[in-house]
Amino acid sequence: MKNSGLLIVLSGFAGSGKGTIMKKLTAAYPDRYALSVSATTRSIRPGEEEGRDYFFKTKEEFETMIRRKELLEYATYVGNYYGTPKKYVEEQLSTGKHVLLEIEIQGAIQIKAKFPDTLLLFVTPPSAKTLLNRMHGRGTESEDEIRARMKRAIEEAQGSDVYDYLIINDDLDQCVEQTNRIIENERCRMKYCLEDIYIIEEDLKRYLKGEEI
Ligand code: 5GP
Repeated sequence: MKNSGLLIVLSGFAGSGKGTIMKKLTAAYPDRYALSVSATTRSIRPGEEEGRDYFFKTKEEFETMIRRKELLEYATYVGNYYGTPKKYVEEQLSTGKHVLLEIEIQGAIQIKAKFPDTLLLFVTPPSAKTLLNRMHGRGTESEDEIRARMKRAIEEAQGSDVYDYLIINDDLDQCVEQTNRIIENERCRMKYCLEDIYIIEEDLKRYLKGEEI
C-alpha cells in the first residue's frame, strides 16, 4: 500500500476535550499520527510546556513569523494570535503520517482553501451544560475569559457546517477510537488508493505476458 498521510483539522468549542482526544490519539498510534504544535501569543497556563503544548511567542515574534510566511494559517482568538508553523507539517506529511491540527474555525477554513483534501472534524460535548461544567471545572480561565470563549463557541456553532464530521465527546476512549476510524475510513477513499489499484493492474498485465510477479 502507498503510504501517504492526510491533513486533519480538529476543531471544537473551548472545553470540548479536543486537546485530550488529540493527545490520546497520537499516544495510542504514534506511528500513524503526528500532532502539529502551534505558535501563540497567549500566556502559558500552569501545566503547559514550551514546545509541547505551544510555542509561546510575543506579538512581535508572531508578526515576524507571519511576514516570513512561516505559518500555514493563523487567526486571532479571544485577543491572541494562534498559528500553525509550516515546516513541521510538511516534514511529517512527507513521512506518510496523518498530521493533526487542533485549530479554530478561521484557521480550518484557510487550511481547507489551501489543501482541499483536508478532513475537517468538529468536537462537542453532549450538551451546553456539560461544556460549562468542564470549563468551570478545569479552573484555568477567569469568569470573563470563560464568557468570551462561550461567546466565541456560539459563533463557531454557527459556522460548523464547513466541517465533514461531528464527534460527540461523551466517553473519551470511544471518542478517540471513533476519530481514528473516521480518519482510517477517509484514507480508504478511492481517490487516495488509485495508485494501489494501479500496482495490482500492472502486475496482472505482467502475469498475462508470462512474467514472474
Ligand atoms: P487555547 O487558548 O484554549 O489553547 O486555544 C484557543 C483556540 O485556539 C482553540 O480553539 C484552539 O483550537 C485554537 N488554536 C490553537 N492553535 C491554533 C492554530 O495554530 N491556529 C488556529 N487558527 N487556531 C488555533
